[in-house]
Amino acid sequence: MLLTGKKTAIIGGGPGGLTLARLLQQRGAEVTVFERDTDRTARQQGATLDLHDESGLRALTEAGLLAAFQQHYRPGADKIRLTDGQANILYDQHQETDAATFGHEHFRPEIDRGPLRDLLLDSLQPDTIVWDSQLLGLEPLAEGWQLRFRNGTTAYADLVVGADGANSKVRPLVTPTQPFFTGFTVVEGNVYEAVRHAPAMAALVQGGKVFALDGKQSIIISAKGDGSISFYTGQRTSEAWVQESGINFQNPQQVAQWFAHDFADWHPIWRELVATDQAYFVPRPQYCMPLNQHWDAQPNLTLLGDAAHLMPPYAGEGVNMAMLDALELSNCLTSPAFSSTREAIAQYETEMRRRAAEAAHMSIVSMEELHSPNGIAWMSQVVSPILSN
Ligand SMILES: Cc1cc2nc3c(=O)[nH]c(=O)nc-3n(C[C@H](O)[C@H](O)[C@H](O)COP(=O)(O)OP(=O)(O)OC[C@H]3O[C@@H](n4cnc5c(N)ncnc54)[C@H](O)[C@@H]3O)c2cc1C
Repeated sequence: MLLTGKKTAIIGGGPGGLTLARLLQQRGAEVTVFERDTDRTARQQGATLDLHDESGLRALTEAGLLAAFQQHYRPGADKIRLTDGQANILYDQHQETDAATFGHEHFRPEIDRGPLRDLLLDSLQPDTIVWDSQLLGLEPLAEGWQLRFRNGTTAYADLVVGADGANSKVRPLVTPTQPFFTGFTVVEGNVYEAVRHAPAMAALVQGGKVFALDGKQSIIISAKGDGSISFYTGQRTSEAWVQESGINFQNPQQVAQWFAHDFADWHPIWRELVATDQAYFVPRPQYCMPLNQHWDAQPNLTLLGDAAHLMPPYAGEGVNMAMLDALELSNCLTSPAFSSTREAIAQYETEMRRRAAEAAHMSIVSMEELHSPNGIAWMSQVVSPILSN
């Protein structure tokens, strides 16, 4: 095997990095994951994730983790309600009988980020993860790389995989290409104990998901297993909106004022999402890597997931692409078909860029449509095949 006798370092223990670590360990490779979080109890923030049959679920199946996933996913959490800005329910999957299950191309089971990370972590050999290891930089050394971490330590690896997400420190050593601003900003929020702190929203979301659209803005809400609801608003902004608005997103009163102003045309019921201090809010300007990226493969350095192909979340593909990258990269690096790691990486990267460009295109189209006057009709069509299959 190409990796025999080599040390592989994966930078970042997100879904992509951990899936790769599991798959490579299954095939006998020596792998270490360097993760910025201080330990495994660091809270996993963000919306729930729906895994797709041909990508995320396929990677978990190959990793021998489908049974673990089936224990931890949240049946019913994939059910969508589509509403307008006045909270009128236009489509309701809760009224439909379940047709799809595992193995069905339209089945997209939801899992919270925490349980997904836990099941991947539990599948790894002891001491695979080195916590509290925020990569600052890497320099060529011998045939590999010397890694430098914020905690003052260094490490050597023969092969480095950058799985360190949107603001990857590894990416600039692979490609000079920068992500571009898409024209939209998302404000992500999470309301703890939603039944108590946002009861009308908890009732509306009913353990599933809500897509609320008014022709130019959106609110997407998901229920989480810990009783909280997470959501993200979407709207067109300038790139510098977060700084120029002067809003302190750690101050709930300022967030409530912003929402009341910018979502003034929406029914007041939505204000519950920002009316509590039992919540957190994070503004996220939406960036995307160009769809026509290209670079020459290196023998000892590559990227996966958001590090390689950051895209907005509107196609629900980011985590699925990251996990499929992990599967494809592990297949290439352990295949007897390649005579060098450069060849294996080149094959992986060519396919990865092609897949990612398709997903990013879908995501940009979806983002534009959802925030257009045609948004409700467009989303109805996206939901209908799920309803009728
Ligand atoms: C609001 C929102 C909603 C989303 N909804 C969905 C959805 O429904 N479906 C979907 O498929 N995708 C969704 N996504 C996208 C999805 O979250 C990402 O595509 C996915 O998490 C990418 O996985 P990853 O492993 O590549 O990177 P990440 O999940 O970002 O993981 C990167 C890891 O690297 C670590 N790290 C970062 N920098 C360093 C460093 N310098 N040194 C060491 N470690 C480091 C981080 O702590 C993290 O653990 C959403 C994103 C957002 C913002």
